[in-house]
Amino acid sequence: MDSLEPLRFPDSEDLRTLQDERLAETVERAYENVPYYRERLDDHGVTPSDVDGVDDVEKLPLTTKAAFTENYPDGLFAVDDAELRRIHASSGTTGKPKVVGYTEGDLDVWERVMARGLATAGVEPGDTVQNMAGYGLFTGGLGVHDAIERLGATVVPTGSGATRRQVELMVDLDTDAVHCTPSYALYLAETAEEMGHDPADLPVSTVVFGAESSTEAMREEIGERFDATAVDNYGLSEIIGPGVAIECAEGDGGLHVWEDHFYPEIVDPDTGEPVPEGEEGELVLTTLTKEALPMLRYRTGDVTSFLPGECPCGCEARRIGSITGRTDDLLVVRGVNVYPTEIESVLLEFDAVAPYYRVDLYRDGSMDTIEITVEREGDAAVDPDELESRLSDRLADVLTLTPDEVAVVDPGALDRTETGKVKRVFDHRE
Ligand SMILES: [Zn+2]
Repeated sequence: MDSLEPLRFPDSEDLRTLQDERLAETVERAYENVPYYRERLDDHGVTPSDVDGVDDVEKLPLTTKAAFTENYPDGLFAVDDAELRRIHASSGTTGKPKVVGYTEGDLDVWERVMARGLATAGVEPGDTVQNMAGYGLFTGGLGVHDAIERLGATVVPTGSGATRRQVELMVDLDTDAVHCTPSYALYLAETAEEMGHDPADLPVSTVVFGAESSTEAMREEIGERFDATAVDNYGLSEIIGPGVAIECAEGDGGLHVWEDHFYPEIVDPDTGEPVPEGEEGELVLTTLTKEALPMLRYRTGDVTSFLPGECPCGCEARRIGSITGRTDDLLVVRGVNVYPTEIESVLLEFDAVAPYYRVDLYRDGSMDTIEITVEREGDAAVDPDELESRLSDRLADVLTLTPDEVAVVDPGALDRTETGKVKRVFDHRE
């Protein structure tokens, strides 16, 4: 295991010193090289000499996604073009993508944090890992690809789609682990079944998934289908890509944040003030080692909480809960706040329904209506009317909002997506 030593999370006594030094350097780098940060810090009356360590982090202003739009394409970069080795971009749902850059040092950090994550998830040197994330500008493909090699495992760069071929390769190459989105993991299991394989009998022992918010219930569902350890891998392009935080094989949920490279805070999304440990809020991240694109107190839009206590795996990196929603996914229905993940967690409590659903929102006059459609599990013998009313009651309890319609449809009735992120919410109200 010596080859994994350079990947390890630092001991707690070293961590704080590292964080303090690295934060001070990052603020200095951002201030000296990025006019946007210099203006923002000047406006807030903060100079780099005011920030000695993480105790001072709250002196810094928060950075929002708007910083990328205002500085498109590369106004936030802190290095000259000659220092850049790679560019990625995230597909913005509206307007221009967010363009992110990496120096050689950044690519090295990215490989190491993601390789550490894979090891934490139980992937071992010598394993064969099929990377089913999209290659290209999306960070999920190349980011995980490089880390698999860095770990000393073998990468099979299948990319997304061509699902039957994915299953064939899993069988033929004796694939130990796969990386994909959670919705694709389900689609993969379903395709394997259609091809006559029980997904639980496939050689895969680890499913690493990411790039979509998902619930603890979804993680369990994926783990059961493949009879494998399923772990949620969290990241975002603006910070580095996949590899910011990951669930471990031993812990019972909760994602270790690699806080020697990314300093996490959780704030009240309305006030920007830190929330007490255990309370939900918006995850804010500060990069501690990024050269090309330092991010100071970046508002991720992801809603989570710090989990108290130590993880049974022994790793001391702080843990956050599964991302329960994104501040921009929040649906307001008849004045009630609803996250799509809350609906998902209710549906997955029922064995008789499959993890495929859609949510439709309409406006009738000034009244919002919400309709939830979910597939019946293939072999479940249930009375659909009775199931619909039980689902409706449970949803009303959890959401504090009674759905206008809950429809249980036949297996396979809802659209599947073979590539990219699944769309489950259709808001027809505009
Ligand atoms: Zn752990």
